[in-house]
Amino acid sequence: CLIIYSKGKTPRRNFPRKASNTDKDPVGVYCRIRPLGAENEECCVEMISSSTIQLHPPDGLKANRNGEFKETQYSFKKVFGIKTTQMELFEEVAKPLIDDLIHSKNGLLFTYGVTGSGKTFTMTGSPGEGGLLPRSLDMVFNSIGPFQAKRFVFKPDEKNGMEIQNQVDALLDRQKRDSQPIVPKTPSSRQRADPEFGDMISSEEACKCDNVDEDCCFSVFVSYIEIYNNYIYDLLEDAPYDPIRPRPPQSKILREDQNHNMYVAGCTEVEVKSTEEAFEVFWKGQKKRRIANTQLNRESSRSHSVFVIKLAQAPLDADGDHILQDKSQVNVSQLCLVDLAGSERTSRTKAEGSRLREAGNINQSLMTLRTCMEVLRENQMYGTNKMVPYRDSKITHLFKNYFDGEGKVRMIVCVNPKADDYEETMLVMRFAEMTQEVEVARPVDRPICFLAAGRRHRNQAFKDELSRRLEERGGPISGTVHDPVLLNQLVESLPQLPPCELVDPSDDQTLSRLIEVLEKRHCARQLITEQFNKTANKLKSMLQQFDGQLGARETFLHDQQSKLSEKEKVIIGQKTEIERLEKKSKMLEYKIDVLQKTTDMYEHDKRSLQQELETREQRLQRELSERRRMEQRMQCMVTDAKLKWEKECERQVNAKQLEMQNKLWVKDEKLKQLKAIVIESKAPERPPRERDRSMAQKRTPSPLSTALPVHPMHRRSHSAGGEKWVDHKPTSNLELDTVMQPIIPNAVKVSTPNEKALSKCNMYVLRHQELASDGEIETKLFKGNVFKTRAGGQAVHFTDVETLRQECPTASSRKRRSGSAERPVQTDDIENRVRF
Ligand code: ADP
Ligand code: MG
Repeated sequence: CLIIYSKGKTPRRNFPRKASNTDKDPVGVYCRIRPLGAENEECCVEMISSSTIQLHPPDGLKANRNGEFKETQYSFKKVFGIKTTQMELFEEVAKPLIDDLIHSKNGLLFTYGVTGSGKTFTMTGSPGEGGLLPRSLDMVFNSIGPFQAKRFVFKPDEKNGMEIQNQVDALLDRQKRDSQPIVPKTPSSRQRADPEFGDMISSEEACKCDNVDEDCCFSVFVSYIEIYNNYIYDLLEDAPYDPIRPRPPQSKILREDQNHNMYVAGCTEVEVKSTEEAFEVFWKGQKKRRIANTQLNRESSRSHSVFVIKLAQAPLDADGDHILQDKSQVNVSQLCLVDLAGSERTSRTKAEGSRLREAGNINQSLMTLRTCMEVLRENQMYGTNKMVPYRDSKITHLFKNYFDGEGKVRMIVCVNPKADDYEETMLVMRFAEMTQEVEVARPVDRPICFLAAGRRHRNQAFKDELSRRLEERGGPISGTVHDPVLLNQLVESLPQLPPCELVDPSDDQTLSRLIEVLEKRHCARQLITEQFNKTANKLKSMLQQFDGQLGARETFLHDQQSKLSEKEKVIIGQKTEIERLEKKSKMLEYKIDVLQKTTDMYEHDKRSLQQELETREQRLQRELSERRRMEQRMQCMVTDAKLKWEKECERQVNAKQLEMQNKLWVKDEKLKQLKAIVIESKAPERPPRERDRSMAQKRTPSPLSTALPVHPMHRRSHSAGGEKWVDHKPTSNLELDTVMQPIIPNAVKVSTPNEKALSKCNMYVLRHQELASDGEIETKLFKGNVFKTRAGGQAVHFTDVETLRQECPTASSRKRRSGSAERPVQTDDIENRVRF
């Protein structure tokens, strides 16, 4: 039966699938470009690097679509150009899969492309140019050749597992096979194989896997199936062929084994022991396929063919002589080599009727393959959990375990660069690029067998040593073969038999002599037997000793191995610890970085804030000093103003006082005059004025005489200062013919005061005329200083009053004439000043 992704041994069941295996590899996609059929054909594929190809739209297409088609590039793990040999391709793509197969790991290799693109050429090849399949078989047998188990030691259990038969059963099966006349014998040389496969591989191209486990026994089983129109056919089934009424081949079904792996139920698995035998089996299947296709009018390009190489291996027992009879120790791995149907659409083949329906099914299966890859990719990339429709077609259902489980998957995309295939090729490329993004779990290493390594080698060495020693002692002896020379020697060493011919009935000497000799011989034989037994015992003890030593060594080795594995475990533990610490340190570094950046930020903020603080402090300082200065100035101003106002007040009080005193004095004087008039009428002889005066002086001294206020300015002569006067003489003033006339030199004379005049001068005088109490005209000169006001105008501050008065000289005459010069002017009056 065909087993896909099978692990025949049971221990796997103890481990949950995929549990320890989280490593994944993408599907390895390679591209192979085949040479053009004819030299002058248009080529639309160009290899631009070892991993990239470029598709050029063919000229016809460009013309049809107004040049909207562009050149497109596609990248793969590797691109193989037209000059690539089958060997190079094998080395790169299939060899690692064979290595895996021999190390109990599964693999899947398929070719994909349009019909005629070289899928079959790549997979099967042609004479002289063997494809991947014969080369793979050759490499397998080259590697495991000396370690193959005898036929029928491994036996498929019909449930996708593998059993081990004991030696007797295996021998019986072998004898049964040999007695069947139809069974082809293993060809002894390549020359005897089918001529079509005769020289697919030259001997110098032979490949070999180096590190094969020599303590194992191997056996190869092959099966070959075809999937056509979603039916599975066994190409190796031995059905009796009836040429008159040929029976259509029976289709097989897919089953799931106890490990949930898919396999074709009841499929023939042929045990093969050499590359040639395997070729033969393949060729038989191939012939059957061809016959069926012709008889049933099928098109071979529309079927998928799957060739499975299954490798069973089991460890040798502790002696290294026979296979360990333990089913749980059997490892089964397999490599599926798949030649898929042409990927072109149905329309191109111009199929009709049932052929079209079939073609539709074939296309459907490739379509399902595409969908599966897409869904898988999406699930893996976006973490979704969409159901992958493996069951929609037989081919995907069969390969389910590769994508769900573990294994190495590789695809070779075959390309025919001819222009006709351009559009199909583009679709193929898109699928191939997408498939590269699908990941498959990497197969895990098989657990190491508990027995010490090197058993086969030791067993061989022991056998060699034994035969050498036996040879030393007179050549090898084997249990059944009687060496005549040795036998003769032995017989000669015994006492010679006397002649024992009895001629006389009364002869009793001959018999007794014979008896004697025979007794002697018996003794000798016993001696020899004893000797032999002794030697055998000695040999046995030696062997036992040897065995013991071997056992001790084995346990020692075992110990060392367990120690080694413990150490390895410790190393792994430490490695994970290191990784963890590295991660942690990276994390911390990152945190430190972040903190550093934050600190820098704060530092910067701090600096700018400090600067701002400093500038504000400076400004405050400046403002404070400014304020202090202002305060001082204000204080000065206040004291100044205070002093000034104090002075002014004092002055005003004094002036008021004087005025009041003067008024008092005037009234007094008037009273006196009145009194004198009254008295004069009584005694007229006396000059009143003088008397009055003296009297007055006697009684009431004039305030002027006693405390005449002296303005400091009056001490100055008018000509002394450089004052400039504004002489204000209102038009109402009368011209008087008095001797004393106020004349101010350089004065600006005005009738009404104006600003222009004031601005030029610093002194001001107002001539004011009024009627005095005696009826005379009195001229008062109001004097003042001119100030410039703050607002830009002028103000006059009056300081003095000068009075010009004229009086009648006769005291009795009450009548006064103004402007009369008849009597001398009273200097007192003229000089009379009042200070405000
Ligand atoms: P497919 O299986 O894809 O339909 P085939 O493998 O049958 O295509 O190839 C069609 C033809 O092209 C065959 O005659 C084959 O010999 C030839 N061919 C394909 N690839 C190559 C190649 N790389 N070198 C030489 N000939 C090739
Ligand atoms: Mg083909």
